[in-house]
Amino acid sequence: MNSTVKEIQEHFRHLRMAETANGLPHLLRKAEQSSWTYQELLEELLTFELKRREEKNVERRLKWAKFPYQKTLDEFRIDEQQSISSRQINQLRELNWLEQQYNLILLGPPGVGKTHIAIGLGLEAIYKGFKVSFITMGELVHLLKTEEYLSKSKTQLKRLRESDLVIIDDLMYLAMDQREANLFFHLINHLYERSSVILTSNKGPKQWGELMGDQGITTAILDRILHRVEVIHLNEDSYRIKHRSTIFKEKSVQN
Ligand code: ADP
Ligand code: MG
Repeated sequence: MNSTVKEIQEHFRHLRMAETANGLPHLLRKAEQSSWTYQELLEELLTFELKRREEKNVERRLKWAKFPYQKTLDEFRIDEQQSISSRQINQLRELNWLEQQYNLILLGPPGVGKTHIAIGLGLEAIYKGFKVSFITMGELVHLLKTEEYLSKSKTQLKRLRESDLVIIDDLMYLAMDQREANLFFHLINHLYERSSVILTSNKGPKQWGELMGDQGITTAILDRILHRVEVIHLNEDSYRIKHRSTIFKEKSVQN
């Protein structure tokens, strides 16, 4: 029982409890100051380790998700978007749809908050322990086309396929050729009933066929995506345009 604190720290590191190892001097001081019982000390040590590990896991999952920006659902102003209610947002926030591998499709013109809501839900999922990947359709097509010969693309797609939630932003922003549509179909087929997908698009599923070129593939893709889906239509003026900043003072604009 006469190990020095340094030796005990080494033991903790050996047991892969690096957080406790680092925090040990502080925890021991607190134990003395507050006259913790042995049981209290043990409990504090273990909760400390578990809490730090969870924080690190959240950080890791956040990095993995590759969000273009982080905006929460709390930052989303319901009063500015009449086509979705706070009840619906709260229901989505509970993530039952994710547990049941439902997909979400967020439709609407640019600037109405599709990407914001998708990221907000992605953040909620990460805090609840799910693995999330965010990608734009343009990037995704590029990864799929280069997967065979670019190890970077291969790694990113591996992560994407292992995610519990895949957010594909701006679907159908660009028209796809048959090979691209085929690759996309294989990905959707892999994710089907294994993960949830959030798709954002400014065009409805009926118009997707025109952009994918091949009706057979489009039908096969839609079949899988629409099997279990919630479609949310966002229809408002662009938040960006309503709240755009201007370099002119309001009065001078009227001149
Ligand atoms: P979309 O993906 O539909 O084109 P975004 O989600 O990117 O639009 O929204 C554009 C910008 O406006 C983002 O910065 C977003 O955070 C903001 N925004 C849009 N709608 C709202 C809203 N209802 N409340 C707060 N911010 C919003
Ligand atoms: Mg967007």
